[in-house]
Amino acid sequence: STLLQVEGLSKRYRRGNQEVAALDGVSLSIAPGETLALVGPSGSGKSTVARILLRLVEPDAGRISFNGEALLGLRGAALRAIRANLQMVFQDPMAAFNPRATVAGLIDDPLRIHGIVGRAERPRAIATLLERVGLATELAGRRVHEISGGQRQRVAIARALATRPALIVLDEAVSALDVLVRADILSLLAELQRDEGVAYLFISHDLGAVRAIAHRIAIMDGGRIVEQGEAATVIAAP
Ligand code: ADP
Ligand code: ADP
Repeated sequence: STLLQVEGLSKRYRRGNQEVAALDGVSLSIAPGETLALVGPSGSGKSTVARILLRLVEPDAGRISFNGEALLGLRGAALRAIRANLQMVFQDPMAAFNPRATVAGLIDDPLRIHGIVGRAERPRAIATLLERVGLATELAGRRVHEISGGQRQRVAIARALATRPALIVLDEAVSALDVLVRADILSLLAELQRDEGVAYLFISHDLGAVRAIAHRIAIMDGGRIVEQGEAATVIAAP
């Protein structure tokens, strides 16, 4: 079965009086519980795919089916319902989050916005999510700027998991972390996938990370997918 089906996605950006073809006919699919890695050089269009999935950018052409629903064109409540099921983790949570926000507040946001649990149960739900991502519940009251980069990325993962999504888009989510922290976060992601059956679109230029986590790999270049297949065949072991 298919969780995400992307067909013929094209996107041009206008810059002054120039046009940049960011995507030129991108098609890919992800099965439930699977990790597809999207790799390729800087500027090849990876983030544009992510931004279109998150409905932050509208494509010029193409179709996206998520959980059997047409994603493009959804508005309002229907879009919010899908958002709960399709979450995102960015490279730099410091840039994405208000640095004054507390750890608990950040995890509370999706619980509140999507009405996942009632107000009285939220502190317990927050504590459970912190444990789930390997963070001490004592961190709940800390502010984003007071914790480490690895801890921030765990908070970002907890926040993404709060709505029990079927798919998490990870855009260079481990790329800024030092090598040991990166290994920890990669094993956390694998463990969460085993336990909760979440699928990942894992966008990365880091082949080591990709080799560790991907089931299938799609290689992008110049806005196109130039190769796609099982991880073991797309990147041979060193
Ligand atoms: P990647 O994530 O692989 O680095 P991007 O999707 O960010 O690639 O970019 C693909 C192409 O689109 C690049 O040529 C980039 O310069 C261009 N681009 C991305 N965002 C914009 C934008 N907002 N305005 C103009 N051009 C953009
Ligand atoms: P805000 O200022 O936006 O209300 P807070 O961080 O004060 O954000 O609290 C947001 C939510 O997190 C509230 O539901 C609160 O019950 C919960 N919360 C705050 N601190 C803790 C904590 N130490 N442990 C568990 N839950 C907490």
